[in-house]
Formats: sequence, structure tokens, C-alpha cells
Amino acid sequence: MKYQGSCHCKSVQFEFEAKEIESALQCNCSICIRKNAIMSKTYIEPAKFSLTQGKDALSTYQWGDKDVNHHFCKYCGIHPFHDLVDQPGAYRVNLGCVEGIEPRRLAIFEFNGRDEL
Ligand SMILES: [Zn+2]
Repeated sequence: MKYQGSCHCKSVQFEFEAKEIESALQCNCSICIRKNAIMSKTYIEPAKFSLTQGKDALSTYQWGDKDVNHHFCKYCGIHPFHDLVDQPGAYRVNLGCVEGIEPRRLAIFEFNGRDEL
């Protein structure tokens, strides 16, 4: 399936290809619990993801071990995806940013990042 997504102000736009998304991931680590985002269960491989607009609108936040790039739009503050420092370009996507998906209706896997990260 082809999916399209954006931040809230649409400065950042992206598309990716994936199998039909039927499940999702929510994590309770100190940053995810604050974002409260429902994320893709897998990382989208770089060849199947493209940022179509907004490279300059993105800013990046890192914390702790600084092993994750938490990308966010510097205009609207929404965080459409993140990737790992050692696997750049493979994104876990914020499903609330993706057209045609109702994140809260998916089968949500709860990851205990608070205790496991
Ligand atoms: Zn934005």
C-alpha cells in the first residue's frame, strides 16, 4: 500500500510503501509518554520512504544515549517520524500523521520502554 503523511501545518510531507497497516506501537518511555503518539510497529526501510516536502522545516531532538533522532516540525511542533542514529533514514512513523489511518482503531502493541530502554 502507498501511504501519505504530513505534520499538522503540512510543511513536512512524506510518503511510504508498506503492507497494509493493521497494528501499531505505543511506548511508555519518558519521551513517548509525553508525545502520546501511536507509531508504526516497524521501521519503514529507506528505499520505501520519501520526504516529499519540508526538509528545512524539520528539526531534531535527542536525549539520553542520543541514539534516536526525534524529528519534529519547527513550525507546528508535530513529530511525524523518528529514526535511529545508526540506521538513518529507516523511519518509525507517527500514524496520526498518515492519511487514511485511524490509529486508535489498530491493534496496539504496548512497548514497555520505560523499563526496557
Ligand atoms: Zn508543521
